[in-house]
Amino acid sequence: MIDLHVHSTCSDGSETPERVVELAAAAGCTAMALTDHDGLAGVARAGERAKSLGIGFVPGCEVSCAFSPGTMHALAYFVEPGEGPLQSELERLRRDRSKRNDLLLQRLKDLGLPVILDEVEAAAGSSVVGRPHFASVLVANGAASSIQDAFERLLAKGAPGYVPKARIDAAAFIAAATGAGAVAVLAHPLTLGIDAPGLDRVLEELSAVGLVGMECYYGRYSPEERAGLALMAKRHDIVATGGSDFHGSFKPDLLVGTGTGDLDVPDTAISELLDRKPR
Ligand code: AMP
Ligand code: ZN
Ligand code: FE
Ligand code: FE
Repeated sequence: MIDLHVHSTCSDGSETPERVVELAAAAGCTAMALTDHDGLAGVARAGERAKSLGIGFVPGCEVSCAFSPGTMHALAYFVEPGEGPLQSELERLRRDRSKRNDLLLQRLKDLGLPVILDEVEAAAGSSVVGRPHFASVLVANGAASSIQDAFERLLAKGAPGYVPKARIDAAAFIAAATGAGAVAVLAHPLTLGIDAPGLDRVLEELSAVGLVGMECYYGRYSPEERAGLALMAKRHDIVATGGSDFHGSFKPDLLVGTGTGDLDVPDTAISELLDRKPR
């Protein structure tokens, strides 16, 4: 068993990079990937802990791509911090987030919910600031009863406090990942908000520009959904990958490795991804 989708305190997870690796090892994973949003700040720490615990480690990240009607997230694997085309794109996305955070603060203020930047930054610590941190401040201030409530009433797409963030074009992300010696994978494809023929077209288009895999075994998907997606990946000759999307207390129903309890991502996904790695 492996887990190729895990968030830490370096983005919007509640557990440190070291801790998520410990949780993966304890769950029985032979390897895991750290995939924080828009950054690689945790991969060195997680990699060290994985080495000491004797489990495999894949450095990665997750980004939001431009797409409608739903949302498209993509993952990159085998990417290290430092210089490179993907690393520069991630830096740009992080810069754009700080502008979005200012807009979000203003929006909440307009709604009569004064949240100050200091509180959000304290909630985020040293990590990439995201809506879950705003949500936790809203909960702490009594403006929402739970993270979920804060999203539903205020922060989710369509809610009055929603402020979109900068998104990267999927083909540009795939190109940057490939240029950095990494591989790109489509995350949790059911959030795209399209039907199966629509997903077929997306896979056709993105695999032509270098997409190597799709996250079929996802923490929240049913066994039937996982199996259907894996068949689709096979038809497009891309790797069926998977992971829990663990965020700790921000998504309390998801566990490292086992997702909602029955996830079991095959170990072979890593070697299949490595086979597609450029250079
Ligand atoms: P951001 O990147 O700042 O837009 O925040 C995205 C994060 O918010 C991701 O971790 C999402 O999974 C999380 N998120 C989005 N919608 C919800 C929701 N309804 N409840 C809890 N977390 C959510
Ligand atoms: Zn997240
Ligand atoms: Fe995601
Ligand atoms: Fe995620």
